Amino acid sequence: MSDQDGKKPLGLSGGARAGTVKQSFARGRTNNVVVETKRKRVSVPKPGAQSAAAVNAQGGKQASTTDAEMDRRLKALQAAKAREAEDTERRAREEQERDEERKRRREEIEAKEREEKEREELLKQKAEDDKRRQEEAREARNRPAADAVTPETAPTADKPDRTRNLGPDARPARNDAPRKREDDSGKPKGGGERRGGKLTVNQALRGGEGGRQRSLASMRRKQERQRRGGPSTPQEKVMRTVQLPETIVVSELANRMSERVAAVVKSLMQSGLMVTQNEVLDADTAELIIEEFGHKVQRVSEADVEQVIDTIEDKDEDLVERAPVITIMGHVDHGKTSLLDAIRKTKVVSGEAGGITQHIGAYQVDVNGKTLSFLDTPGHAAFTSMRARGAQVTDIVVLVVAADDQVMPQTVEAINHAKAAKVPMIIAINKMDRPGADPQKVRTDLLQHEVIVEAMSGEVQDVEVSAVTGEGLDKLLEAIALQAEILELKANPNRAAEAAVIEAQLDVGRGPVATVLVQNGTLRRGDIFVVGEQWGKVRALIDDQGQRVEEAGPSVPVEVLGLSGTPGAGDVLNVVETEAQAREISEYRQQAAKDKRAAAGAATTLDQMMAKVKEDQNVSELPILVKADVQGSAEAILQAMEKIGNDEVRVRVLHSGVGAITESDITLAEASGAPVIGFNVRANAPARAAANQKGVEIRYYSVIYDMVDDIRDAASGLLSAEIKETFIGYAEIREVFKVTGVGNVAGCLVTEGVAQRNAGVRLLRDDVVIHEGTLKTLKRFKDEVKEVQSGQECGMAFERYEDIRKGDVIEIFTRQEVERTLEAD
Ligand code: GDP
Repeated sequence: MSDQDGKKPLGLSGGARAGTVKQSFARGRTNNVVVETKRKRVSVPKPGAQSAAAVNAQGGKQASTTDAEMDRRLKALQAAKAREAEDTERRAREEQERDEERKRRREEIEAKEREEKEREELLKQKAEDDKRRQEEAREARNRPAADAVTPETAPTADKPDRTRNLGPDARPARNDAPRKREDDSGKPKGGGERRGGKLTVNQALRGGEGGRQRSLASMRRKQERQRRGGPSTPQEKVMRTVQLPETIVVSELANRMSERVAAVVKSLMQSGLMVTQNEVLDADTAELIIEEFGHKVQRVSEADVEQVIDTIEDKDEDLVERAPVITIMGHVDHGKTSLLDAIRKTKVVSGEAGGITQHIGAYQVDVNGKTLSFLDTPGHAAFTSMRARGAQVTDIVVLVVAADDQVMPQTVEAINHAKAAKVPMIIAINKMDRPGADPQKVRTDLLQHEVIVEAMSGEVQDVEVSAVTGEGLDKLLEAIALQAEILELKANPNRAAEAAVIEAQLDVGRGPVATVLVQNGTLRRGDIFVVGEQWGKVRALIDDQGQRVEEAGPSVPVEVLGLSGTPGAGDVLNVVETEAQAREISEYRQQAAKDKRAAAGAATTLDQMMAKVKEDQNVSELPILVKADVQGSAEAILQAMEKIGNDEVRVRVLHSGVGAITESDITLAEASGAPVIGFNVRANAPARAAANQKGVEIRYYSVIYDMVDDIRDAASGLLSAEIKETFIGYAEIREVFKVTGVGNVAGCLVTEGVAQRNAGVRLLRDDVVIHEGTLKTLKRFKDEVKEVQSGQECGMAFERYEDIRKGDVIEIFTRQEVERTLEAD
């Protein structure tokens, strides 16, 4: 260090010796230093200064400071100074860098702005183009244009707006971007305005590209709507798929279409149906209405409640072989019953032959280890009625033809039924023991009806049998077993049972009883089920030999106890899980049936049927059901009916039988839409009730020519004036008195309607007409009266007829001639 250097004032605050400082160095050298206090320097807070101050303070305390010490202090001060200079330089450099950075950014931003402006110009142009195009499209096809065009333009216009830049100090923030907008001139607005600005209608409508594009699109739609007629304009039509059950109430139909009830009623009126909202429509009518309203129809055959019924298809591996179900058909007296009896007597499963009394309308037989189930309901009624109800129970039809007779009408009918049901046939040529037996004639006869038997090198098996001698029975059973094998009949025993009702009746002691044939699954005691409109819980199962059983598998016929009511033949029984489900389904079905009847009105009267025949050329058959007092008259009627008819219409006797008209006759008639003809027989009380309920017409005749005339007229569509009978009452004979001079007098109770003195009367015994005539007397106590009301007792005597018995029923009716028309009943 030089002296000059030494003269440089050193800042020592609080130094004891201010002024000159003598510095001592090594080897005796000294130096005088002028010390001057410089506030500025000391005040700079630096680590060096601090230490110097500390040293100084220490020095202050000590009386003297060594040269070495001074030297260190000087060095520290110099270092401090150097650092200060470095700092200044660094700051200046940083300042410069910042300036450069700012400049650079400004340039960048300016460039971006320029770019943005160009882009905006472009967009403006494009949006204007779009707008113009929209206008054109709108004009072209007034409505759909607005919606169709907007989605195209919206996304393209939307995008660039988000990237708008806003100036040097407002960096483009993504969140803010969608809210940024500009005024008409396209110049950016002030920051505050940008942030707070909401899209106004004016902005949206004036600026082609202004505002949020999505909102703009909706604004345009709104504007479009307003232009079309204000906010009251109906909304765009929503096309619905309407679930349509078999019948539907008008208001419910409206509900399902989401249309106003009034509009639906109006529409119905326009199509000529004067209905109120509470009336029931059939599915066809409803479908027309649904289509008129522009909706789609989805027909539902079963309501949702029915969905609990297990309808899952069985997997192949779950299926096991089941016994075939056989129905024997054929013309009356050709030996159906005899054949069934003969088979049963020889082959009843595990039974002692001959000793078995049949308990139910079906039985099983064993043939070489194979089981066959026979439906013991000969005749076509069971077959047809079951089919009408959707239960195809029969797998094989055995057609019985008497070898000493020929192919008869019912033989042909059976053939047609079997063919219609696609059920294979086996021909049993019966009565081979008879002297006049000519099986060859039967075979050739059958050819005419397109039944080619094996003996005629056809496919249909034929077996010559005798129900009386038992000849050929084994062969017949083998033929059946073979046919069954070909059919490969299978079912899954391990699922909820499904069965078909073969017959059902109300048993006095046991309540409603149904004989069912299990078709799939296994029916067990305790199972809860629905069957037709009824439901129940299996209280007991009784097999074909009268034995109580715990369960019945596929193809097994059993009698079921524990029903809520009597189902119909052909009704399907389904096992469900809970009683509530069963009850619900049953209630639904009852309601649906009721609605259907209401919708159909009194359905099957002869007149209506013929009206239908007239308008619908496809209906070429007039189906009827005939019940007669004796077999002879039933035959005569069948033959007479055969002759009626022309090329277009023919009468088809669905079923004929002897005895009272029963509930199951009505069921069959209903299923086929046929009227029931009672020839000298009457419907029993349940059948009458059923007929009323189901709208099935029952016509009674006592003269075969009247009946033939009526049917012929109906079939040919020539409906003349008719004598119309009105049943006005029933009376039950409680006692029979012999009165001298008068003869037999019946002490009666009028059970239904009224008894009238001048009315016509019929005497019924077990629902069969045994006399028709007029009354000689109608007495209430001692007095002759004109009329006796229901619930009252009276005395009646017939004109010229004496054979009256306790328990007979007197039917009272009036007659009047009416002009028949197609519509009126
Ligand atoms: P369905 O009306 O078809 O049930 O016939 P049936 O079984 O009632 O028989 C009518 C009549 O023919 C009865 O008198 C039977 O005895 C008789 N019959 C049935 N099969 C045979 C048979 O194979 N040979 C003879 N000789 N008579 C028979």
